[in-house]
Amino acid sequence: MYEKTPELIWWNGEIVPWQEATVHVTSEVAMRGANVFEGVRAYWQPSNGHHAMLYWDRHLDRLRQSARLLRFPAADAESHIARMYDGAASFVRALNQQEDLYLRPTLYIDEGRYGWKQGQVRLGSYIAAYPTGPSPSETVACIVSSWRRTPDPSISPLIKVGAAYLAFRLPRIEAQQAGADEAILLNTNDTVAETGGAAVFLVRDGVAVTPPLADGVLDSITRRTVIHLLRSSLDIPVIERSIPRTELYTADEAFLCGTLDEVRSISSIDDLPIGSGQRLVGQAVRNLYLAMCSGTEEPLDAQMLTPVKPAVPSGTS
Ligand code: PMP
Repeated sequence: MYEKTPELIWWNGEIVPWQEATVHVTSEVAMRGANVFEGVRAYWQPSNGHHAMLYWDRHLDRLRQSARLLRFPAADAESHIARMYDGAASFVRALNQQEDLYLRPTLYIDEGRYGWKQGQVRLGSYIAAYPTGPSPSETVACIVSSWRRTPDPSISPLIKVGAAYLAFRLPRIEAQQAGADEAILLNTNDTVAETGGAAVFLVRDGVAVTPPLADGVLDSITRRTVIHLLRSSLDIPVIERSIPRTELYTADEAFLCGTLDEVRSISSIDDLPIGSGQRLVGQAVRNLYLAMCSGTEEPLDAQMLTPVKPAVPSGTS
C-alpha cells in the first residue's frame, strides 16, 4: 500500500504536492516520534458514486484523546483537528480516485520539546491518503511474539502515538522470520493483548471472547463494531475477559479485526491450525461488516459512514 508515493497531501489545512510537506530532522516528531495518528478507511461505494469514511467522528475523537493524554496544548490541537474534520472530505474529492483509500490523519510536534502549554510547542498536522488495493487475504497465519505490548505505566496502549508503534517493529520482523503474517502480542501479565493493528477474538462453544481494554489493548473502533454485530445481528454472546496464551491454540475459531485488517480469520498460531478449519463465525462477521462498509447493507448506525459527496458546483443550489 505504501509502495507508490502519492502526488498530494493535506498539510496544515492546505492540499499541497507531497514533497512540500516536510519537518526538520531534529524536530520532536522526527527525534522522538511525537505524532498522534489515526488510520481511517474511505470506502469507494460504486453504487453511490462516492467515498464513505468509516467512523470518521470516532477516529477524530480518539485522535483528540491521544493528543490530550500526551498533553499536546489543547487549543492548538483542537484547531488542527477542526480543520482536519472538514479537510478530509475536500482532500478525498481532490484526489479523484475511484477506489478504497486509507487515510492517516496525524498531529505532530513540529517545534519545541516537552512544552504542554499553549505557545510552548508548535503543532503541525497532515492527512496522507493511500489507495488500499484489494482487501487483505481472508485468513492470516500468526505467531505469538516473544515481545510484550507496552504496558499502561510506560506508554498506554490507549494512546496512538508513533513512538509507541516502534514497539511493533521487532514483533513484525519476528513474524516474518517465522514465515507468518502477523504477531499476536501478550501483555506484561502474559495474557493475550492484540497485534500491532488489530484486536483478537476467539470463539469457543458458540461464545466469542476478547481481551478487555484493561489487558493492554487499543480501544479499537472495529472491535466495538464487531462486538455489536456479534451480539445484535448474529446472536452470539461476547465475553470480555483475559485470555491465557494456551487458550489461543484450543479455540474453535479465532479472528482479527481492525480498520485495515477488517475481519480476518486466523488459520494457525505458532504453526498449530486453529479449530477444524471451519470459520463460520469469523466469516459471518466479515461478510456483514464488509457489506455495511461497501454500502450493500444498511450501516450499523448513523455515525458509521460519512459520505464524501461530490462538491456542488458554485452558482448552483
Ligand atoms: N490495535 C492496534 C495497536 C492498532 O494500531 C489498531 C489500528 N488502529 C487496532 C488495534 C485496531 O483499531 P481500529 O479498529 O480502531 O482500527
